[in-house]
Amino acid sequence: MAYEQVRFEIDSEKAIQNKGLKKALVNVTNRFRSARNNASHDVSNWEELRSAAREVKKETISNLDKYLLMLEDSVKSKGGRVHWAKDSKDASEIIIKIAEDSNVKSVVKSKSMATEEIELNDKFNEAGIKVVETDLGEYIIQLAGEHPSHIIAPAIHKTKDDISRLFSDTFDIPYYDKPEDLTKFAREKLRNEFLNADMGVSGANFAVAETGTIVVVENEGNARMTTTVPRIHVALVGIEKLIPRYEDLSLFLTVLARSATGQKSSTYVSFITGPKRQSDIDGPEEFHLVLLDNGRSNILASDETRESLYCIRCGACLNNCPVYRQVGGHSYGWAYSGPIGAIINPQLLGLDKASELPFASSLCGACHDVCPVKIDFPKVLLELRKNVVESKSKSTRLGEAFLEKTGIKLWRFAMMNERIYKTTNKLGYYLQKPFRSGDDKLNSLPYPFSRWTEQRDFPAVAKKTFRESWADIKQGIG
Ligand code: SF4
Repeated sequence: MAYEQVRFEIDSEKAIQNKGLKKALVNVTNRFRSARNNASHDVSNWEELRSAAREVKKETISNLDKYLLMLEDSVKSKGGRVHWAKDSKDASEIIIKIAEDSNVKSVVKSKSMATEEIELNDKFNEAGIKVVETDLGEYIIQLAGEHPSHIIAPAIHKTKDDISRLFSDTFDIPYYDKPEDLTKFAREKLRNEFLNADMGVSGANFAVAETGTIVVVENEGNARMTTTVPRIHVALVGIEKLIPRYEDLSLFLTVLARSATGQKSSTYVSFITGPKRQSDIDGPEEFHLVLLDNGRSNILASDETRESLYCIRCGACLNNCPVYRQVGGHSYGWAYSGPIGAIINPQLLGLDKASELPFASSLCGACHDVCPVKIDFPKVLLELRKNVVESKSKSTRLGEAFLEKTGIKLWRFAMMNERIYKTTNKLGYYLQKPFRSGDDKLNSLPYPFSRWTEQRDFPAVAKKTFRESWADIKQGIG
C-alpha cells in the first residue's frame, strides 16, 4: 500500500476521535515509558552515556564521507558487495535487480524502517516476487494492508481482538482468544517462509566502518533467520547508521535497548560481517549492502538540523510525546512518526510535502529529555518552522505578519487604556453569548478564531473585570 500526501491536521483529527486507538496507545507507551525509566535509573552514569553517544554520532556525521568509504572498503574486503543508492527509486531498482539476476522468487524481510521508507514491498509485488514480513508486528500490518504506526512496535494501534479477527478472516481459521495461539500460528506459517525463501532483506541498527559489520537488534529471532537462512542477504542501510569503531558498539547497545524497551540487552543481537566463509556451516552465499541517501545529504548540509541524523531509532521520543500518544503514528503520513517523524519526514520528503509536521509539537521537550543521543528537538523544530514560513510566498507572509502585528497593537492599545479595556470587555461579554457553552467555555468561534477553537476551548469573557470583582469582594468584607 503506497503512502499518500502527509495530512497531519485531517488525519490527527480523525485519530483523536478513535477511543480504541487512544486506549491502545496510552497502554503500550506507558509500559515502554516506565520500562525505559527504570532501566535508565539502574545505570549510575546514564547521562554520561547519553552524552558520549551524542559525541560519537556528532563525530561520525561530521566525517561521514570518510567513514562511508572506510565502510565500503571493509565490507568489500570481507567478500560483501556495496551499492550506493541516491534515492528511493535507485535503492528499489538495485534490490530488485539483485533479486532478478539471481532468479529470486521469494523474499523474507525483517523489520526495517529504511525498506518502509522506499516502499520496497510494493516494488517486489510489482516485479512479481513474493515478499513476506517476518517480524510479528510487521506480519500483522502486512496482512492488514497497513503501514507501521511505531518505529519499534509497528502494530501498536491494533488490539488482540483486531488481530484475532484478521487471522481468522485471512486464513479461514477459528478465532483465537489467546495471544499464545496467535503467535504459535504465525510462527508455523513463517517457519515455512524462511525455509523456502531465496533472499532475506534486513535493515541494520548500526554499520561499523572499521570492520564492515552490520548489527541487527531484535527480540524475536526472525532477523537472525532472515539474514542467515536464505542464500542471499541484502541489507538496506541509511547512511547515517554508521558508527566508526567496533568498540563503540558497547555504548550504543547499552543505550539502545534500555531506551527502546527497557531491556538490558535485546534478546538477539546479530553481528554480520560479509557472506558465509568456507569454514562456516551456514549463512548466505552473497551479502549485499545497499547504502541509502534519499535526502540525508541535504540534512547533512544544514548546521541547524544536522543532528536529526544522530537518531538510532529507539522509539523513546514517541512513547513520551504528548502529541503522538493522542494521535498515533498514521497521522504523520509517512514511514517515521512521533517527534523524530516531525523532524525527519519534512527533511527527507521536502518541506512542501510535510509542512504541517514541524508544528505537530507542543515544544514541551519531553523527547529531548529521553533521547539517548540528546537530539535537541525544540531547536530543530523551530528551525523547520522558520523554514516553512520562509517558504511561503512574500504576499502570504506579509499578509500574515500584518494581521498578527495589527492584532497585537490593538490588544496593547486596549490593555493600556482602562476605559477602552472595560468597554471592550463588556462588548466581548455580550458578543460571545451565541458561542458560549454552559460551562463558561467558548468551543466554536468563527474564523479566524476558529483556528484556535478547532483544537481546544477558549475561556469565556467574564461579566466583570478582576477590578470590579475585587471591589465587590472588598465591599462584602467591609
Ligand atoms: S530521536 Fe532519539 S528518542 Fe527518538 S527514536 Fe531517535 S534516538 Fe530514539
